[in-house]
Amino acid sequence: MRIASVRVWSRLRPVVGGSYVIAGSTVSCLDSTLVEVTTDDGLVGWGETCPVGPTYQPHHAAGARAALAELAPGLLGADPGHPLLLRRRMDATLAGHRYAKAALDIAAHDLLGKHHGVRVADLLGGPATERVPSYYATGVGEPDDVAAVAADRVARGYPRLQVKIGGRDVAVDIEVVRKVWEAVGGRVRLAVDGNRSLTTADAVTLSRSCADVPFVLEQPCDTLDEIRSLRGRVAHPVFVDESGTDLATVVGLVGRREVDGFGMKVTRIGGLQAMAAFRDVCEAASVPHTCDDAWGGDVVAAACVHVAATVSPRLLEGVWVAQPYIAEHDDPEHGLEVQDGHLRLPSGPGLGVVPDTARLGAPVLEVG
Ligand SMILES: [Mg+2]
Repeated sequence: MRIASVRVWSRLRPVVGGSYVIAGSTVSCLDSTLVEVTTDDGLVGWGETCPVGPTYQPHHAAGARAALAELAPGLLGADPGHPLLLRRRMDATLAGHRYAKAALDIAAHDLLGKHHGVRVADLLGGPATERVPSYYATGVGEPDDVAAVAADRVARGYPRLQVKIGGRDVAVDIEVVRKVWEAVGGRVRLAVDGNRSLTTADAVTLSRSCADVPFVLEQPCDTLDEIRSLRGRVAHPVFVDESGTDLATVVGLVGRREVDGFGMKVTRIGGLQAMAAFRDVCEAASVPHTCDDAWGGDVVAAACVHVAATVSPRLLEGVWVAQPYIAEHDDPEHGLEVQDGHLRLPSGPGLGVVPDTARLGAPVLEVG
């Protein structure tokens, strides 16, 4: 099995309801990059990467496609059945850009699963479950509005909520947390996500002001130094998301016990091969984490669910997917849907989802 061609598409994904607000940015349409890898024996594998706009972290859609143009020619003739060797080959071609390499890694896992007639979750060690918990992330909003959304999502079966805060007076964020707790307290697990926006002073103030509300405080501040300085000064466990940029950073944070958990993105860390290593590091130290991605369609959602199904259930904080915020599926038949706050593991070989190329238009890149 050798890589014969790589094709890349840009797929625009408008946000249902018009926009999604997080601290520091508002997005109304996400530009996703879909990758199709075809082998000399006729198998087709899919990958995807979709940054949440250009300011959520140092990733952007055009950057992903520029990196893929750099990487793809060097992969022709490579065996996609060896994702570890493929990763090293990509690292020898281009430094960094894990979020772009991840799309090719996901496609390689899809191909490997199809080649052997098994699911990606089987390749990653085996699924502990056929149904993983999801969580819903509210955008930044007014306290009463966010509380109403929280109550609605809990009624729909979500076992966990993430409340976005930041980018304004911390007193408003404290009111948001309190109103959400009044609306859903005791019926759901909570994360409060500052998306890098709080000062350490505001993070301490928010945590101490809400010390009676159980939640995990996710990426409250911009840098790891700021986040480390919170230990012993806040009343809540602290999770790292955006600053968990690679496996080496994760190993250091876990080894030094500087973090209580992670929000982790499959593409940020470099794909499923790196994500499985991340999972194992966290399990060795009993560190909980999510299995998410930034945004994206059925391909990236399937990748998240496959690896999440292999995580020890006691450590799985949930799987965030963009599906509730976007209108269309790329795979109209097998596309993933959150139902009762959970996601089913796809049943087909590989990822178990196949984008309908008729919906994608012309590729932006063809190699091979
Ligand atoms: Mg986050």
